[in-house]
Amino acid sequence: MRPTTTAHSMLRAHHFAGLAPGPRLIVLGAVHGNEVCGTRAIERVLAELEAGRWQLRRGALSLVPVANPLAYANGTRNGERNLNRRLLPTDAPREYEDQLANLLCPWLAAHDVLLDLHSFLGPGEPFVLRGPPDNDGTLEPFAHAVAEGRLAECLGPTRIVEGWMTVYAEGAARRRACGMKDDADASYGIGTTEYMRSQGGYAVTLECGQHEDPAAPQVAYHAIRRAVALLGLAEWPDFEPLPRGGAFERLRLATVVDREHANDRLVRPWASFDALRAGEPVAERADGTFWRAPRDGRVVFPDPSARPGHEWFYFAEPLG
Ligand SMILES: [Zn+2]
Repeated sequence: MRPTTTAHSMLRAHHFAGLAPGPRLIVLGAVHGNEVCGTRAIERVLAELEAGRWQLRRGALSLVPVANPLAYANGTRNGERNLNRRLLPTDAPREYEDQLANLLCPWLAAHDVLLDLHSFLGPGEPFVLRGPPDNDGTLEPFAHAVAEGRLAECLGPTRIVEGWMTVYAEGAARRRACGMKDDADASYGIGTTEYMRSQGGYAVTLECGQHEDPAAPQVAYHAIRRAVALLGLAEWPDFEPLPRGGAFERLRLATVVDREHANDRLVRPWASFDALRAGEPVAERADGTFWRAPRDGRVVFPDPSARPGHEWFYFAEPLG
C-alpha cells in the first residue's frame, strides 16, 4: 500500500483542436514536481482559452499542467524516480513514474511538437535545450533539426544548448565500464524530448529560470504564446515580433564529469554557465589532481552534492 501514490492516481490533459488541420503541439508543466512555472503559465493559457480570449484556428494544442502529480503534491523534483529519465512505456511498471510514462508516451507520440517547461535550482538566465543535428545514427536519429531550431529560437531566451544525448551516452558507457548499473544505461538519458524525437516529432526543453524566480512563469507563458504563433495555431493580434538571429549563444555539451570520490570537490561554488578558460581548474579530485577545462567554454549543471559514481558537472563549448 502506497498511499502517497494512490492519492495521485490520475493525470490531467486539456486538448484543443482547430477545425483546420495543422501541427499538433503538446506543452508539459511540472515534469519535475518542484518546477511550477510551466504549471502557472499553462493555467494562464487555459483561463484565456476558457474565457474565449482566443481560439485555435488549426492544428491542436494539448496542455498538461502537472505531468508528475505526486512530485507536484510533495513539492519535490521526483515522486519515486526522475520522470525525465528512461521515459519509456513498459509492460511491467514498478515505480509511480513508470505508470505516468505509460500515459505520457502515447500522448507525446500523438503530437508533432513538444514544449517541455522546467526551472532550475541555482541562479541564472533562462535557456533552451534542443536536440541533435539531423542524422541517421543509432543513438538519436533525427530529421527535424531545422524546425526544432526555429522553435528553440522563437521562445525568447537566447542561450541554446545541445548535445545532451551524445554526452549522456558517453558518460553511461564510462559508468558501465566501471560495473555500474542504473544511469550506466544510455536509455536512462531518454526524457520527454528524446522520446518525442524517437516518435518522429521534435521537441525542446525550456528552462525558464530559478525555481522561485517570479519572472519564470512569465517566461514560460510567453514561450507557449510564441510556439502557438510560430506554428500558426492561432492569430495573435498583439504578438511581439520573434527575435531575429545573431544574438544567440549556442553551446554544445561536450563532456560529463562524474564525481568519483566523496572527497572530490569543486574548486568554486560554480553556477551553471560560468565561463571557463582553457586549462582553468574546475574540480579537485581526492588524490589532489585537478580537472581542468580542456578548452574555453562553460561549466553546466554543477551538482556539489552529487553521489560518487554519478554526474557531477558538464563542460559545454561554444558551437562554432
Ligand atoms: Zn526540470
